[in-house]
Amino acid sequence: REAYEHRGGFGFVNSGGKVPLGLKRKGLRIVVTGGAGFVGSHLVDRLIARGDSVIVVDNFFTGRKENVMHHFGNPRFELIRHDVVEPLLLEVDQIYHLACPASPVHYKFNPVKTIKTNVVGTLNMLGLAKRVGARFLLTSTSEVYGDPLQHPQVETYWGNVNPIGVRSCYDEGKRTAETLTMDYHRGAEVEVRIARIFNTYGPRMCIDDGRVVSNFVAQALRKEPLTVYGDGKQTRSFQYVSDLVEGLMRLMEGEHVGPFNLGNPGEFTMLELAQVVQETIDPNATIEFKPNTEDDPHKRKPDISKAKEQLGWEPKVALRKGLPLMVSDFRQRIFGDQKENGA
Ligand code: NAD
Ligand code: UDP
Ligand code: UDP
Repeated sequence: REAYEHRGGFGFVNSGGKVPLGLKRKGLRIVVTGGAGFVGSHLVDRLIARGDSVIVVDNFFTGRKENVMHHFGNPRFELIRHDVVEPLLLEVDQIYHLACPASPVHYKFNPVKTIKTNVVGTLNMLGLAKRVGARFLLTSTSEVYGDPLQHPQVETYWGNVNPIGVRSCYDEGKRTAETLTMDYHRGAEVEVRIARIFNTYGPRMCIDDGRVVSNFVAQALRKEPLTVYGDGKQTRSFQYVSDLVEGLMRLMEGEHVGPFNLGNPGEFTMLELAQVVQETIDPNATIEFKPNTEDDPHKRKPDISKAKEQLGWEPKVALRKGLPLMVSDFRQRIFGDQKENGA
């Protein structure tokens, strides 16, 4: 640690990444686990643009090199193929911990692996944060509220989660990750931050990850029917990725542990979403009803008063503004007419 503290040129070790008053801000060393994924890669773009040094740690389960390869050759960028379930030694100032499959199709593919990623993976990254005195941010999820009995969801709500269902590997996994994060905070004085992220969309989402926005957009572009599960009256609130990244960075830099809901309170039924996709891409797109999946939450909408008040954050991009940005990325990737990576 001694050697580390005196290695010049970088951030403020053991200050949790805080910049002492009166000093010009130097670049920090930041790890982004899951940084080759959808949200992570947009976060990396912002951190690199801000002048920080970024180490992406990713096992490429759902992430892609294409999402970050525009940083190859930049001396402030490193990409490590590593599974967070295994220990990792690095010297850094901040850790954004995103590694975890996020779409139901991917997290149900190998549920035990999902649990291990959430529990052992989070434990390892907290152990790393403790050893080097780094500040640690967990990307938790609105899924911790389960099929909520309170609407909209406030951070003080404890949730309604099935512990033995097909989604439990993800939602109980994230709940345990939150517990670990708070126990390292209380027991080992690790500086931590917790974000509860609501459904997020944008360029670079996996095209075939089964999430509703990526499904509808890809289906409409391919002239296939939009698959609405169940009666389509269930609701979600959709946040554009740049709003989320802004919220994550404010949370990391701010003074509050959280948890904070980060989401767009605009609530849509799946049928309304299908309609917006029709308006944006193809008014003639048809709708096909399919049976719903097990344990599907009936409604979800964040109460973001706490983030507004304590982080000065609120989303800026409405669904009808954000969707076209995602559509042009999907169009390029599906029809391959231009460069591969998103905006
Ligand atoms: P994503 O699947 O695009 O990104 C996850 C990344 O983690 C991928 O690059 C994947 O390869 C990597 N990864 C998975 N398991 C790993 C492991 N064991 N070791 C190392 N890397 C691993 O998903 P995303 O939408 O970018 O989600 C990022 C984070 O945000 C996740 O933790 C997710 O739970 C959370 N989140 C996302 C949403 C959303 O709507 N996108 C909502 C709530 C929470
Ligand atoms: N760990 C890691 N990198 C580090 C420090 C710790 O991956 O730089 C892992 C370590 O292997 C352990 C976990 O984080 O599995 C928790 O570490 P901690 O020191 O809190 O607990 P302990 O090692 O005492 O069980
Ligand atoms: N859904 C749908 N059609 C699809 C994919 C999903 O109607 O092609 C529904 C799904 O049943 C759920 C909602 O859309 O009610 C959101 O699903 P998603 O997998 O995107 O996210 P999550 O359930 O994790 O919020």
